[in-house]
Amino acid sequence: MDNEADIFYRTLPKVELHAHLNGSVSFQTIEKLLSRKPHLNIEHSMTAIGKGQRRTLDECFQVFKVIHQLVDSEEDILMVATDVIKEFAADGVKYLELRSTPREERNTGLTKKKYIETIIKAIQQCKNDGVDIKVRFLVAIDRRNGTEVAIETVKMAEEFMLSSDGLVVGIDLSGDPMVGHGKDLLPALQKAKDCGLKLSLHLSEIPSQREETDLLLNLPPDRIGHGTFLHPDVGGSQSLVEKVLKKKIPLELCLTSNVKGQTVPCYSNHHFKYWYKLGHPCVICTDDKGVFSTDLSQEYQLAASTFGLSHEDIWEHSQQAIDCIFAPDDVKQQLKQKWIDMKPQVFK
Ligand code: 5GP
Repeated sequence: MDNEADIFYRTLPKVELHAHLNGSVSFQTIEKLLSRKPHLNIEHSMTAIGKGQRRTLDECFQVFKVIHQLVDSEEDILMVATDVIKEFAADGVKYLELRSTPREERNTGLTKKKYIETIIKAIQQCKNDGVDIKVRFLVAIDRRNGTEVAIETVKMAEEFMLSSDGLVVGIDLSGDPMVGHGKDLLPALQKAKDCGLKLSLHLSEIPSQREETDLLLNLPPDRIGHGTFLHPDVGGSQSLVEKVLKKKIPLELCLTSNVKGQTVPCYSNHHFKYWYKLGHPCVICTDDKGVFSTDLSQEYQLAASTFGLSHEDIWEHSQQAIDCIFAPDDVKQQLKQKWIDMKPQVFK
């Protein structure tokens, strides 16, 4: 939406649970990357979708490929991750779960292990610098890469879960929904679940995934990314909805991303309305704040103005998101206390 959000939404303490690292790179950080790599001839218009613009989902995935060219070394990842964490903190986010797909790059000697280590380093550096935000990491599986890579990714994630002092908490399943099938990834996802990694799965992002969603919901995942076509009004089914409701699986909802990526025709038709009315746990998120030119405060304000939510409704919404995080109960308690402490300041 490319507007500055009101002070209420900025001051509101927030939880961000669905943020892809390379989709979250700001204009300012892209500027620094462009100056590091002028030979690539990449322009800003190739890395972000601005105000009033729309793209097909396919075009959105092309944008990620451009950003990946710009972020291909340990040094780049450290800068990008540090900048993204600080930007979320400056936007009033108190708890962030970042997700990213480990990549190896022959040119720069980057390995998948180094990739994850570097993000953990960025999280630790921000903590040591006193940035007021708690950050956890989800290792992402790109569905395009099939069974073997998925299993390898889960293995790495498990190792880091055990060695990162609680910073690596789960697995994300993402990537182009038009490619691959969840049944090929099921053994890897089951293994992840069995070893204690939490699962956040992109499900029903496009209409043709009913069968896959039904299968993956049996795991069940701990959270669902998007879930745009789950409900019957848009070609999903009541039985899918029942499964989600019965297992109380929270949804991560990203308004601007879905409208700009054209899986949702307009804000007022966003499935936020469907789930919110049912009182089902859902969490407003950004998805890719850099690519979709937004931030979490703007997303909250957008939800409020589109669906007629009061400041008190929005407060409750941000507070209930704490129960959906993957970090353990002591972290939830600390966050709940923070919300109590901050309330007078936000409503003054
Ligand atoms: P990265 O994993 O490189 O940090 O972030 C970019 C990647 O996140 C993309 O290449 C894609 O795999 C995934 N991603 C970002 N946004 C979306 C989205 O809206 N839907 C899906 N399915 N994947 C996404």
